[in-house]
Amino acid sequence: MSRAEVVADILSCTRCESVIPVPFRGPAPARFAIIGEAPGRVENEVGEPFRGPAGHLLDEALVAAGFDLEQLCWVNPVCCWPERIKTPQPEHFTACKPHLLAQLKLINPTYLLLVGNSALYAAGVSTKITATRGKVWQAGDRYYSATWHPAAVLRDPDKKDQFCSDVQAFREVTKGEMT
Ligand code: SF4
Repeated sequence: MSRAEVVADILSCTRCESVIPVPFRGPAPARFAIIGEAPGRVENEVGEPFRGPAGHLLDEALVAAGFDLEQLCWVNPVCCWPERIKTPQPEHFTACKPHLLAQLKLINPTYLLLVGNSALYAAGVSTKITATRGKVWQAGDRYYSATWHPAAVLRDPDKKDQFCSDVQAFREVTKGEMT
């Protein structure tokens, strides 16, 4: 599917009886992708992922690590804001999986940073972020790393040093892939 078709398919989706789906943001294809959880209130209003306070915190860490934000792509495995239930449930990940797969096929990233347990779950990783953060692993022709979701860092600033260190470790793996 083309980018326009992938986006239109997401925007017209009513599988979960949710409203205002938020498709990915950034270039496609892109070598680097950030995988999160679901849009929040700000993202729901703006229509783009990682545009709220958590997204700004992640931007800061990515820039500090040396990333060019223009070369990154942001994707949520659940495209709608789970306002009533706060956190997406397994059925939402299942319902939205075709959209995630379509977006990743279009973006075709080599390096993926999974932020938070929901991103790990969506990627089929069985361990929690406490055991996985800061590590890098390969699956097929893709490289994965993981860290706290920036919203968790906002709730618990003691996680910020680990968060920044993990983003830096992800950057080290991708070196040579950006100018
Ligand atoms: S969360 Fe995903 S599957 Fe559910 S309505 Fe939104 S776009 Fe559709």
